[in-house]
Amino acid sequence: MTIGSHIAWDDTVLPFQLDRSDIRGRVARLDGVLDNVLKQHAYPPVIEALVAEAYPDFAEVLRRFGSPPIRSTATLAGNIANGSPIGDSMPCLLALGASLQLRRGDKTRTVALDNFYTGQKQNVLQPGEFIESIDLPKPVAGGVFRAHKVSKRFEQDISATCCAMSYQLQGGKFTNVKLAYNGLAPSPCRAPKLEAVINGRTPDAVTAAELDAAIAASFTARDGLRATWTYRALVARNLVLQFVEESTESTPEAV
Ligand SMILES: Cc1cc2nc3c(=O)[nH]c(=O)nc-3n(C[C@H](O)[C@H](O)[C@H](O)COP(=O)(O)OP(=O)(O)OC[C@H]3O[C@@H](n4cnc5c(N)ncnc54)[C@H](O)[C@@H]3O)c2cc1C
Repeated sequence: MTIGSHIAWDDTVLPFQLDRSDIRGRVARLDGVLDNVLKQHAYPPVIEALVAEAYPDFAEVLRRFGSPPIRSTATLAGNIANGSPIGDSMPCLLALGASLQLRRGDKTRTVALDNFYTGQKQNVLQPGEFIESIDLPKPVAGGVFRAHKVSKRFEQDISATCCAMSYQLQGGKFTNVKLAYNGLAPSPCRAPKLEAVINGRTPDAVTAAELDAAIAASFTARDGLRATWTYRALVARNLVLQFVEESTESTPEAV
């Protein structure tokens, strides 16, 4: 075989011709170039960095999502479409007011994530329709986002519940509260009765008893493999209480 150029085992394209035949071609060996291409597709760290800047708590939830191999391959759209009741990205996306761009062929429509699920692992996707993009509203001045996942182990574990809440404080009172959970209902969902307890109130006016009553009125009590209902309901209330109490520590007043 005749090699048409000197071998350099980095990024190399080698023309060759088989002796005593007219078969010729090129052998390509890509090292640095291939590494660069792969790095371009290293979306999870890039996305984590962007999310971490805007919403540190969301990044913390993502850091506890599965494990590095899962985080490197799993997509947010797959997490949403899969629709597990304990899917972790959805409470965060719900509290942030996410909407989904759905596409089938050249037809598109926008559906609020809040209206996406119709039951356990059921959603409004039509045959052939897929989630093309996930849109988040731009962060607003004075907007605060909190989220926390509770599971038995820190990493590689499934939520007992994950709670996410976004809000602003105006005149010391909560406004625009969006609160969402996984693990409490057939699909991840907003909790409008709890939002009503918090909206328009000062942090010290929000009581555990009112939150407990709103949780009891919002969800059907059921024990699961990973946690009893008593535990889940307690955690669901305490996470909100924590977010409410901590709101006075660092929340800038909305303008
Ligand atoms: C070991 C392990 C640990 C895990 N840990 C967690 C965890 O901590 N938290 C958590 O929430 N989940 C966890 N998961 C679940 C899983 O990783 C997620 O649901 C993941 O986000 C799915 O994404 P995917 O891209 O792999 O989707 P796939 O598994 O490929 O798809 C899931 C479903 O969604 C559909 N789908 C995918 N993309 C689209 C789209 N764009 N439009 C419409 N439908 C679509 C598919 O057809 C399929 O029905 C874990 C899974 C494993 C195996």
